[in-house]
Amino acid sequence: MPSEFDLIARHFTRPTRHTVLGVGDDGALIAPTAGMQLVVSSDMLVAGTHFLPDTDPVDLGWKTLAVNVSDLAAMGAAPRWATLALALPAADEAWLAAFAKGFFACANAFDIDLIGGDTTRGPLNLCVTIFGEVPAGQALRRSAAQPGDEIWVSGTPGLAALGLAHLQGRCRLPDPAACIAALQRPQPRVVLGLALHGLAHAVIDVSDGLLADLGHILQQSACAARLELSQFPAAALRQGAPDALAQACLLGGGDDYELVFSVPAAQHGEIQALADALQLPLSMIGHIERGERGSAGSVVLLDHGQPVALPPRGYDHFARG
Ligand code: ADP
Ligand code: MG
Repeated sequence: MPSEFDLIARHFTRPTRHTVLGVGDDGALIAPTAGMQLVVSSDMLVAGTHFLPDTDPVDLGWKTLAVNVSDLAAMGAAPRWATLALALPAADEAWLAAFAKGFFACANAFDIDLIGGDTTRGPLNLCVTIFGEVPAGQALRRSAAQPGDEIWVSGTPGLAALGLAHLQGRCRLPDPAACIAALQRPQPRVVLGLALHGLAHAVIDVSDGLLADLGHILQQSACAARLELSQFPAAALRQGAPDALAQACLLGGGDDYELVFSVPAAQHGEIQALADALQLPLSMIGHIERGERGSAGSVVLLDHGQPVALPPRGYDHFARG
């Protein structure tokens, strides 16, 4: 049987690129760049709750880091370092090698050093803490939306939730590859987040569903929103799923890791130019409005100007029902 230390040495120790002291001592040493603030975020993935137990470990390794990278993207930060705390039911070397392959593929794609962690026996549970840098005072916050702002979303939200529905047999997509890729291999929008400095007011990443995460911006900014469904990116509506499911996935499906952001209307052309420059679809889906006292966070959803009912809200681990 390999020891815990063998496993760490074999699977989770790699040369670092911008770290004073990485894996191997009681703690890691990092030196933040002068003039930058550190942005820190943790996300835990629990088998059965956040991923299907039979998920390909290479994909799981990618996603474990990618969902954390997405949080930094939403702060307008550049990811730099990460720690990885693992609980594993057994020391399955083939599984660990595959997981590490996906994890380091993501780390390399975003220039992140793995600098430490913890490895213990237990029900499969993966927790990353990520550290990034943002120019001091410039982080993009949820609380900064202003009435009159346009609301934009990146990419094709809803595909990941459709991929999950397909894998769970809740629908049968004729060509599920793009949806399954969206679910298993999310692409955190780091370059977009960095480009939104000086353009966006409020930014959030979509982990729990577009409306639910937009709701966090509205609540923290004490604003309301008016959305036009016909302006939403329609890819999720064109995958061959039943209309009601497709619309629920578009508006409320989790796991997309796209960015939702508010920008002053004067920046409309800049955002369009950014979509071209980044080769990334960016869709204007509505406007921020003044929040009525006591009802901050309310959303009016229109379809060609006609009010439509809001679907159930996003995923909440502790909500009943
Ligand atoms: P300690 O007992 O001092 O807490 P550990 O035995 O837990 O140290 O870990 C030894 C070293 O390996 C530390 O530098 C720790 O950060 C690192 N480490 C442990 N598990 C992981 C992992 N899954 N990924 C990366 N580094 C890890
Ligand atoms: Mg330890």
